[in-house]
Amino acid sequence: MNILLIEDEEKIARFVELELKHEGYSVTKSYDGREGLELALSGCYDLILLDVMLPHLNGLEVLRRLRRSSEVPVILLTARDAVMDKVSGLDAGADDYITKPFAIEELLARIRVALKKRAGTGTQPTHELEAAGVTLNEERHEVKCQEKPIELTNREFELLHALLKNKNIVMSREKLMDLVCGYDFAGETNVIDVYVRYLRSKIDDKFHIRLIQTVRGVGYVIRD
Ligand code: CA
Repeated sequence: MNILLIEDEEKIARFVELELKHEGYSVTKSYDGREGLELALSGCYDLILLDVMLPHLNGLEVLRRLRRSSEVPVILLTARDAVMDKVSGLDAGADDYITKPFAIEELLARIRVALKKRAGTGTQPTHELEAAGVTLNEERHEVKCQEKPIELTNREFELLHALLKNKNIVMSREKLMDLVCGYDFAGETNVIDVYVRYLRSKIDDKFHIRLIQTVRGVGYVIRD
């Protein structure tokens, strides 16, 4: 998860950055409203922590401009008792706000809520993986070849997903087993060969393409 922190008070920014990194988030800092907006518009972030009082462009204006094209979750960092900021912030499209000074645990909790809420609304861009005319839509759990839908079992879908997600990377049978069957699956790795055969009969043979390639002695790969 990538978090963009737009906060001009360096001490607060550094403290928050450290705590977030400790929790496993990647953090990019910006001390300036205008630069912060540009970064936010890049679309590289899963969540934005946005201070209200900022040089060059205040946080509310950053938020308003950001909302014209982005639904990324935003949590405002407001000064104590700045009631107007909170109201205007929520009106401008903030997901939440937190009043400074705050306990880091509260911020972490609000981040988790905002990320979860956003993940559940389905407003994220659809994730479609593609190779050789085959598309896999992650949200709709749908596979098509040359625009025609293909019916796959769960395991077949998971295998195709693992290969497409790691396009151009040769995947060992063991690795594919972990991804498709789970780490605690105790079966033989040749079950992967069986699923590859099923996929080939449903896709390669039917549509006369060569999607899944065998890398002798190693495993399988889907190439561009
Ligand atoms: Ca500030």
